[in-house]
Amino acid sequence: MINEFQMPTKIVSGAGCVREAVREVKLFNSRKVLIITDPGVNKTGLPASVADHLRAGEMEVGVFDEVESDPGIGMAANAGEAAKAMQADVMVAIGGGSSIDTAKSAALLVTNGGHLKDYAGVGKVGTPTLPLIAIPTTAGTGSEVTVFAVMSDPANNEKFTISSPFMAPRVAILDPEVTVGLPPLITAFTGMDALTHAVEAYASAIAQPATNALAIHAVKMILDNLPVAVFRPDNINARENMMQAALLAGVAFSNAYLGLAHAIASPLGGHFHVPHGLANAVMLPYVMEFNLPAAVGRYAEIAKMLSLGGPNDHPRALADKAVLAITALAQDIGIPKQLRDVVGAKEDFLPLVAHDAMKSVQLKFNPRIATEQEILGMLHKAF
Ligand SMILES: [Zn+2]
Repeated sequence: MINEFQMPTKIVSGAGCVREAVREVKLFNSRKVLIITDPGVNKTGLPASVADHLRAGEMEVGVFDEVESDPGIGMAANAGEAAKAMQADVMVAIGGGSSIDTAKSAALLVTNGGHLKDYAGVGKVGTPTLPLIAIPTTAGTGSEVTVFAVMSDPANNEKFTISSPFMAPRVAILDPEVTVGLPPLITAFTGMDALTHAVEAYASAIAQPATNALAIHAVKMILDNLPVAVFRPDNINARENMMQAALLAGVAFSNAYLGLAHAIASPLGGHFHVPHGLANAVMLPYVMEFNLPAAVGRYAEIAKMLSLGGPNDHPRALADKAVLAITALAQDIGIPKQLRDVVGAKEDFLPLVAHDAMKSVQLKFNPRIATEQEILGMLHKAF
């Protein structure tokens, strides 16, 4: 097997580092900057403060604050038009995965033109996109370092992924102080998304030493820090560790891809608008249980990393402990055990979800091949 590993994004991190945004923008010799954000983040005043710093640095600044959750093709087109109208030469995304993925897609449209769906799939972006600086306000998606953008196609309730090295932000600015105001439930959902990235990348059929090192370290950091970040939102140390862990998991899955939990989370989001992190969080224990026979060695390594079990434990016993630990974490931080308790999820639609999950590119990286029937069985069990 031939391995490939890429990490095109410069990382700036540390408490208070959001003030470095101006310096990073200046490195691109930028004159005109478009900030992409959502109304909720805009209300916190963070985008306005970044804009003030940029204006003080003699840059013209526009703010596009219309991003919604599950952003679609139209949202990306509107953001791209806003960038063209002011002739922006750099974009700054401030927010969660929705804002960063919208900015990635808009940056793509500005330099490549056409329709966003033309670029769905792997390697279809021909020209470098407008430089993008990502300032995540959640610790979860890893979008600040991934080569992907996940966007919605409202016409058929589907999500699609654009994958290209050009989609990676040029700079990621990780400031834990900007995540302190995040409500506990959002911290829990996004943190479980990061955990799912780490676990799926670690068990991926194309995992390699570089992705394994990042992914398993991310698993440990998340198990150690997520409950603290949920229950003590002001704990900067836990927030910082969660941001770093989400980033490590992001780099890992940018190269090793994901698996069955993400294949199922995508149609759960597309059909029921279940938040991405919540969909993964509910499904991860069921997916790990299904994958276990094919991933004993991988899950046993996770258990050892978490110091579960003794040195003489059989790998199968260790693997079971890894699944139990992750299931317990999800419950501890308030993730529903069953899909029925998730707003929007409907049992009648499960066959459609299973059908759509089969279309996911992530399935081929799952450690165990799953049939549509098996996915439907898992969904019924989870419901
Ligand atoms: Zn995810």
